[in-house]
Amino acid sequence: MFSSLRSRLWMSYALLIFAALLVAVLFLLVYLIRNPLIVRQATARLQDAESLILSEQPNLGELAPDSLPQILRKYDQTLNVRLLVITKNLQVLADSRAGSAPAFVAPRLLRLNALLKDETGEYWLFIAKRISNQHWLVISAPRPKVPILGILRDDLLPPFIEAGALALILSLGIAFWLARWVADPLQSVMTASQQMPARQAAALPLRGPREVQSLTRAFNAMADRLQASQRSQREFVANVSHELKTPLTSIQGFAQAILDGTASTTEAHQQAARVIYDEAGRMHRMVLDLLDLARLDAGTVDLQRASLDLLALLNNVVEKFSLQASAAGVSLKVQADALPEIIGDGDRLAQVFTNLVDNALKYTPPSGQVSLQARQIADCVEIAVTDTGTGIPPTALPHIFDRFYQADPTRKGGEKHGAGLGLAIVKEIIAAHGGTTNVRSVSGEGSTFTVRLPFVMPTDTSVVKQKK
Ligand code: ADP
Repeated sequence: MFSSLRSRLWMSYALLIFAALLVAVLFLLVYLIRNPLIVRQATARLQDAESLILSEQPNLGELAPDSLPQILRKYDQTLNVRLLVITKNLQVLADSRAGSAPAFVAPRLLRLNALLKDETGEYWLFIAKRISNQHWLVISAPRPKVPILGILRDDLLPPFIEAGALALILSLGIAFWLARWVADPLQSVMTASQQMPARQAAALPLRGPREVQSLTRAFNAMADRLQASQRSQREFVANVSHELKTPLTSIQGFAQAILDGTASTTEAHQQAARVIYDEAGRMHRMVLDLLDLARLDAGTVDLQRASLDLLALLNNVVEKFSLQASAAGVSLKVQADALPEIIGDGDRLAQVFTNLVDNALKYTPPSGQVSLQARQIADCVEIAVTDTGTGIPPTALPHIFDRFYQADPTRKGGEKHGAGLGLAIVKEIIAAHGGTTNVRSVSGEGSTFTVRLPFVMPTDTSVVKQKK
């Protein structure tokens, strides 16, 4: 019933107001019961009586006990106070109301309390004055009664009820305002999240208390990420379809030529089969690259964490490309001193340098040079793959590691051109090793791709020994 923020807030205000008023009434009641003013007035009357009696009867302490009751009664009648003469052992010698009023009980209480109690349980105010060595004069009067219920009913309750009603109305207003302040921005976050991801949302304005603003900020950031991811998904699908369209069109065209007899000679058959084979191979490589990227993205690639001899790995890659390099008339070599062992996945790192060297050879004209330089800096190993090839235009440099990006799609590096995924894979593999990838290039002069690998993978607890 009271599940909404508004009603909860209002309920708590109402309870708070009720509790505050109750406490105030209780305090007032206690104050009234103890009413210091009335008690003070009564005590003053007792003191006046005392000074009058003692001024008129200075020898009261020396009088014979028999004469005392009569004198006390006389003053009682004129002053309307009950008078007692008691010994210092608290024995009552004379009482102005002996027989006509209930006797006091436990006169010992005299010492402790400012009140006396009679046999019927009524309390009396009193003051005591020493009148001789042995005797004390006690002057008392019934404790004044405060008409609590009357005061409560007539004086206290009406203003308290009015104040309470006013406070409740005010609290209702404040509760509604507060609830709107908190609930309205929450409501817009909820509406926006229900419309996700269909809606291309503008960022929600930051309103309400700080916590709600933080929530809105987090929601805006999440919506941004979601939209970016949707955008990149759409681009990805468009890129994949685009990249598949060209080889599929060729395959379809040449297969059609074989089927309808346009390619009738053996050479034409051979050529058609070669194109189909090449294009199918290209699609196969692209699908493998895409699978690699998907696994790297999802973090499901099982990276081996073995100790690696990086120099041997680089030499292997260079050896693999040596025939291709000499056929292209390009010199290919490794320049490195002894390197510390690193922890990493040998196959994946070989894939990185294969992609880089492959690109370098593709874009380097005959009599150019491709070199792999490795060195140790601080706590990582830096490997630079440098070529003296065509270079990359400055406008293309920031996008070079993007998926499907090709700096110049018309110049595709010969038959084995890729789909613009090679460098994206390089970047992902190096990032998975806790390393970084960079490129420097001058158009027409060549490019340098630099990879930095830490000695230890980020999640690895083992420390790699350095070669002496
Ligand atoms: P691809 O598989 O198409 O080569 P990459 O991701 O490996 O895709 O490279 C992306 C683009 O970067 C290439 O299309 C090419 O334009 C450019 N590129 C990469 N390496 C080099 C290089 N060493 N020299 C010049 N351009 C390069």
